[in-house]
Amino acid sequence: MSEEAGIVILGAGQAGGEVASELRKLGYTGRVTMIGDEPHVPYRRPPLSKAYYAGLVTAEELYVVPLASLEKAEIEFIGGVRATHIDREHKQVSLEDGRSIPYHKLVIATGGRARPLPLEGADRPNVFLLRTIDDIERIRASSKPGARMVIIGGGFIGLETAAVALKLGLQVTVLEGLPRVLARVTIPEVSAFFERVHREAGVDLRTGAQVAGLEGDERITHVHLTDGSRIEADLVVVGIGLIANTELAESAGLVVNNGVIVDEYACTSDPDIVAAGDCTNHPSQYLGRRVRLESVPNAMEQGKVAANTLIGNKVPYHSVPWFWSDQYDLKLQMVGLSEGFDEFVVRGDLSDPNTRSFAVFYFKDGHLLSVDAVNKPQEFMLSKKLVAERARLNPQALTNEKVPFKTLIAEARA
Ligand SMILES: Cc1cc2nc3c(=O)[nH]c(=O)nc-3n(C[C@H](O)[C@H](O)[C@H](O)COP(=O)(O)OP(=O)(O)OC[C@H]3O[C@@H](n4cnc5c(N)ncnc54)[C@H](O)[C@@H]3O)c2cc1C
Repeated sequence: MSEEAGIVILGAGQAGGEVASELRKLGYTGRVTMIGDEPHVPYRRPPLSKAYYAGLVTAEELYVVPLASLEKAEIEFIGGVRATHIDREHKQVSLEDGRSIPYHKLVIATGGRARPLPLEGADRPNVFLLRTIDDIERIRASSKPGARMVIIGGGFIGLETAAVALKLGLQVTVLEGLPRVLARVTIPEVSAFFERVHREAGVDLRTGAQVAGLEGDERITHVHLTDGSRIEADLVVVGIGLIANTELAESAGLVVNNGVIVDEYACTSDPDIVAAGDCTNHPSQYLGRRVRLESVPNAMEQGKVAANTLIGNKVPYHSVPWFWSDQYDLKLQMVGLSEGFDEFVVRGDLSDPNTRSFAVFYFKDGHLLSVDAVNKPQEFMLSKKLVAERARLNPQALTNEKVPFKTLIAEARA
């Protein structure tokens, strides 16, 4: 296929939008076509379970690249249409409306979809997944003050939704199947902190709560647990993780293994196809292994790398993972992954029930591996660099809250 076909981007999410804008910033003047199955131009998902659910921002304020900017940049946007097949031999993509779109180079940025609850009744109209603007619109329409919301899943999305729902006047129950919330991403002490905060705010938070079934005919009225309890529900929100959208890549014969396999330049196993964002599995220099991440920084930074690769620049993707979550007045910021740590110290007092800010530093063999910071922006910002370089520090030297963190770093290095 000739170069005139240009670059086609599958998926108009955070990563797809980033590739498109970055291509123009880098001076690419060829044709760029972005295809998305949602009707919206690329938008930021993080506010969905935060400010957007709370009604504090409009859908337009979520748009990363508004339609006018896309038009100005001459990026063709085909929205509300699903791509159904990639024909690598003839270098074209089939759409569900029968169209075929040729490409010179292809970008797979298909992200992921919310994991549905594998239970009878999960398709009732008052059971909601939470991934898109449209999902939140539906949840908000049912979020009447006094309504009983049961959230299944005590991960970031479930907990953020709980915090907003309380503010909207709902009665909120959170059910987490594991013995503690946020179990996959942090230590028991931090989980206990968030559990306390939510309970104090008024959430009925139950851990080790195994959902056995949903009850109700037209609408779900109760959620049953394996311990025999029966919880009344006017609406049920399911936040139990994500399934990467890799089917298109897989059926096209690309190598897929917990995500579309890419190298550090976002290249797939086809030299004419790159991929970026939640749907990819990339080699992480920081971790020393492959990883599939679900975060905005990953989507954006890998999107930039993919755009560079498309125009022939060799810019490797070597970022350290980072993430944030907003719940009530708390901003949690995490940099690095704590897996394999052998020591941790806390700057702040987690045993004090009034604590609203602290930072946990995780070490391996004396090197800083990762940091979880709650309302400690300076610690987070400065730690990003320290984690990236796996700085060798004296852990105890970081804990003195009376001395500014910046000053302590120099002492801790000594
Ligand atoms: C409620 C919520 C809160 C979040 N909060 C945070 C946060 O605080 N911090 C953080 O870092 N991250 C957060 N995330 C995660 C973050 O939003 C994602 O990591 C990011 O959106 C990934 O971008 P992406 O472009 O890879 O995928 P997506 O944003 O999923 O975009 C992919 C797009 O491709 C479309 N698509 C898929 N298949 C096809 C097809 N065959 N044809 C056409 N289109 C297709 C999808 O429908 C979607 O629109 C949150 C996510 C959610 C849902």
